[in-house]
Amino acid sequence: MNISIHRPTFVTHLECSMTEERYEADRLHGLSRAGRPLLVRYDLAAAGAAVARDAIEARPTDLWRWRELLPVRHTASIVSLGEIETPLIPIPHSAGGNVLVKDEGRLPTGSFKARGLVMAVAMARELGVTRIAMPTNGNAGAALAAYASRCGIETIVFCPEDTPEINVREIAMQGARVWRVNGLIDDCGAIVGRGAAEGRWFDFSTLKEPYRIEGKKTMGLELAAQLGWELPDAIFYPTGGGTGLIGMWKAFDELEALGWIGPKRPRMYAVQASGCAPIVRAFEAGEEHAERWEDAHTVAAGIRVPRAVGDFLILRAVRQSGGKALGVGDPAILKAVDDCARRDGLLLCPEGGATLAAYREALRTGEVDAEERVVLFNCATGLKYPMPAAPNTLDRHAPIDFDAL
Ligand SMILES: *Cc1c(COP(=O)(O)O)cnc(C)c1O
Repeated sequence: MNISIHRPTFVTHLECSMTEERYEADRLHGLSRAGRPLLVRYDLAAAGAAVARDAIEARPTDLWRWRELLPVRHTASIVSLGEIETPLIPIPHSAGGNVLVKDEGRLPTGSFKARGLVMAVAMARELGVTRIAMPTNGNAGAALAAYASRCGIETIVFCPEDTPEINVREIAMQGARVWRVNGLIDDCGAIVGRGAAEGRWFDFSTLKEPYRIEGKKTMGLELAAQLGWELPDAIFYPTGGGTGLIGMWKAFDELEALGWIGPKRPRMYAVQASGCAPIVRAFEAGEEHAERWEDAHTVAAGIRVPRAVGDFLILRAVRQSGGKALGVGDPAILKAVDDCARRDGLLLCPEGGATLAAYREALRTGEVDAEERVVLFNCATGLKYPMPAAPNTLDRHAPIDFDAL
């Protein structure tokens, strides 16, 4: 990696996302005293004086090209598995000519959770954490296990008992102690919280430590650079805990403060499965917070999050952007995955399929225009998820009917 050993960070402080109360940088923090996520704040004038947009563009296109806008102080804290810039792939047959998929499945551990966890683990290491616990629907646990094991941090991971088998196994194989729990992700979170209160480990639940957002915001930074510093008209983001949506919204503000983009913002569409849509319900009711969704169920496990600690931040960003929270049913999700694979050769995860399904519905209702530039997020590789059976066999010793092949 092409990074100097001692580098300044431009972090000035952390700030409660609800009350704006200030917290000191370079200290271990969880939630704010008000029980809300903390946001990292930077001296953007100094960062902008230290590096120009052109200088960033001249660097290798990985996540670390954005280092002046990231919190890690010591290069030695970074455990890298190769956090590449993910490509924007057109899917003209299943969506139309102006739609691009940001394919996050190509990141280490096969999901965009790598962006958040590479940052959070580096910061935990920098601040002396030796033991981390986390509730997960699968991909976050896998990314945590990979990065933490690699630098000798112990990890204990709790997932709902019906978490996809491959996720549970990859977590275990990458060195974590993983437990299936008879409940949903927030039930797992409660166990992590109890252990953390007893001082057994550091709590790495979504948004309960401040640095995953900083990793996830690189999706917004990358998007701006990839599109010539002109953001798209709309972004469809599969929303569970909402880290990525909140992070991108923060990234856009930082880029504008640097003078690297103008005031134009995409409409942000928070996409949820209709079997677990607390943000959609709160959006439609005009509420600032979302109540827990009971009996959550969907094929899109990554967005089966009945309650999000950053609910008000998701809702705030969606409303400020002029977007909406949209729910889509499992049949539409599966059909979108199928169409995209068959017609465009891109295998989406179900959560990525949800964004395509929501886009199609938004097109139908006139919420978006076919002429608008739209970005959908495919947040994990489709290869991690169950696929329909392909049962054909051929007996090479019997006569072969070539016309029938
Ligand atoms: C975690 C996850 C999501 C949700 O991301 P958030 O930023 O937490 O809302 C969506 N899809 C997949 C595959 C995930 O692993």
